[in-house]
Amino acid sequence: MIRYSFTPVIQTMVLYASLVLLFAVVSLYASPPASQTGTLRALPTIPSHVLELVGGGVVLGLLVYAISRRLDFVLLIPSVVVLTDLDHLPAALGLAQPIRPAHSIIFIVTAFILVATIIKRLDLSFAVMSGFFIHLSIDTGQFPPFSPLSFQYYQLGSYLGIFVVLAVASALVAGYLGRRTSK
Ligand SMILES: [Zn+2]
Repeated sequence: MIRYSFTPVIQTMVLYASLVLLFAVVSLYASPPASQTGTLRALPTIPSHVLELVGGGVVLGLLVYAISRRLDFVLLIPSVVVLTDLDHLPAALGLAQPIRPAHSIIFIVTAFILVATIIKRLDLSFAVMSGFFIHLSIDTGQFPPFSPLSFQYYQLGSYLGIFVVLAVASALVAGYLGRRTSK
């Protein structure tokens, strides 16, 4: 029996996707041309990477479900994981762009605050944070943690342990808060 509305989850997805696209557009103007080396991965490898991302999101979604017994997290977390890659859109359209402009700490802090203040659901803020960090732990290569302020790149793999801990910890908090919300 569903005793809650999926509307906040849909609103969160729209808000998150809009913010990813905003960061992608802003980064086109904010990044120095020398940093605009973002490309798409080789086309044949995209489906398997997307599957890995969805898989990571589903695992965390189920973890949150196990705690909260709320299905909306099982939808939201994998969606956030996939939507994060909308920041590759300029490259897909053939434009020069920086690498992964929304794979940024400034981005996730902004997204967290916006979900908490606009959707007014701290459990969904933590679910978004969880999806974002599991995405970063599945990706490989470089990312700009301070985009769109700086496009200095760092290796994702160097921070794998931190990303996994943040993803699981925020999933646990989301589940705990979600359980309280539904009572
Ligand atoms: Zn990515």
